[in-house]
Amino acid sequence: MSDAHSHPTVVAVDGPSGSGKSTVSRGVADALGLHVLDTGAMYRAVTLAMLERGLDPSDEKAAASTARDARIDVDDGRVQLDGRDVGTAIRGPDVTAAVSTVSAHPGVRKVLVDRQRDWVARHGGGVVEGRDIGTVVFPDAAVKVFLTASDDERARRRQRDERAAHREVDVGEVRDALERRDRLDTTRAMSPLRKADDALLVDTTDRDASDVIAEIVDRVEAGRARS
Ligand code: C5P
Repeated sequence: MSDAHSHPTVVAVDGPSGSGKSTVSRGVADALGLHVLDTGAMYRAVTLAMLERGLDPSDEKAAASTARDARIDVDDGRVQLDGRDVGTAIRGPDVTAAVSTVSAHPGVRKVLVDRQRDWVARHGGGVVEGRDIGTVVFPDAAVKVFLTASDDERARRRQRDERAAHREVDVGEVRDALERRDRLDTTRAMSPLRKADDALLVDTTDRDASDVIAEIVDRVEAGRARS
């Protein structure tokens, strides 16, 4: 069971918000014929479910039971919560402001990490993007990448995303919100955002996405050729 060909290929893509994870993950998956799992969308869906039920995001017990009860389907860009399309709702400002509080609860992480591993088993591998994929969820991933970009560039990218969703936000406010989320995500006790020791560190600030994608695809293919 453990020869290289029976092992599904997992590419772990971690990094903070605005570092380019979604674009890079999609490009790598298309090039390699793999599916993409956006684990951030899962934490966002649990957060949305809590807010819709009027629950307090800092209530660990309520968060864990919401995570257990919620049916979340995340497949190649589509996100459903209990059968409802929530792809737009999970990117709203209320969810973005509360998600790092919800994702810090160990009870939530345990439920979602199990589902992420199931998802990869069902899909025969995949490009998995998040914060703790290379460190915790798939420490044996074929290739691990940690993306970064300058704070200014990350804020500009997030502002562009907000504009595309018809929300006008000041770049300074976006920067402050990013800083707050980074702080919560990097300092939480369980599975904080950090680069795995064996992850490739890629600064995407001044690079074309196609160039970064090609570098990662080359790594995966070089690993396959060796095995
Ligand atoms: O990637 P995205 O910005 O949508 O993630 C939203 C939030 O979900 C992050 O700020 C983080 O709090 C949480 N998250 C996490 N672990 C992951 C993916 C996302 O804690 N693997």
